[in-house]
Amino acid sequence: MGTIACSLWPVLAHAIIHPIIPPMSNRAAALYALQVTDLEIDAVRHRLTAIRTALGETEAVRQARVAVTAAEAELNHWYIRQRDLELSVAGLGAKLAETEAQLYGGHVRNPKQLTELQAEAASLGRQRRALEDDLLEAMLNVEDRTAAVAAARQALADVEAAWQSSQAGLRAEATQLEARLQALSGEREAYLMGISADDLAVYEALRRRKGGQAVALVEGDACGACGVALFSSRLQQARQSESLTTCGNCDRILYLP
Ligand SMILES: [Zn+2]
Repeated sequence: MGTIACSLWPVLAHAIIHPIIPPMSNRAAALYALQVTDLEIDAVRHRLTAIRTALGETEAVRQARVAVTAAEAELNHWYIRQRDLELSVAGLGAKLAETEAQLYGGHVRNPKQLTELQAEAASLGRQRRALEDDLLEAMLNVEDRTAAVAAARQALADVEAAWQSSQAGLRAEATQLEARLQALSGEREAYLMGISADDLAVYEALRRRKGGQAVALVEGDACGACGVALFSSRLQQARQSESLTTCGNCDRILYLP
């Protein structure tokens, strides 16, 4: 009871057959040491994945870039409007000058024709003033939008600078973590020398089922992983036996330091 029948567990394809070296103090201790290393390997890999995800353009940079494009499009719209109105005002001005030249040139003497020319000159003058108002509005908008584009470009430069420095920090952290992972992998190999292929298969299968924690420390007289109190016979077995003793509740291998 309490000893895992190893034949029940599928032998992992990648499990290497190691010569069975007498365990440190017992088999559970060797597995516990392995687990400490494996949990750190898991954490390092998890962090490296997060860093690799973050080593892309951030949402803040993307939004700042979108804001610059939008501000530039607005400016362009008002700039084109200003150019169109300038051309229209100039066209009306030329037409008005032509009408006034006819009106005051002395060649037209017919009163009806003169009245028509006066009305046309007045109408052209009104049209030009209306266009000049529109032109003024367009010019003010161009001024405002030019300032908005400059502000958006500055905001993008700021957010990009912050992004670049965080990228440098993340790259440095990734380099450190990769070195740590290599060291841990060496540690793991060393621990594996003291663990039988069967025990390793049990351990690996339990790790998959139990969220990475195959071995539980005994704390007081309870399982440190699930907290359930252990029968004294099971505690005794965990303390003395060279076989693996498991928690009756969560099935994890018990280790009494
Ligand atoms: Zn338990």
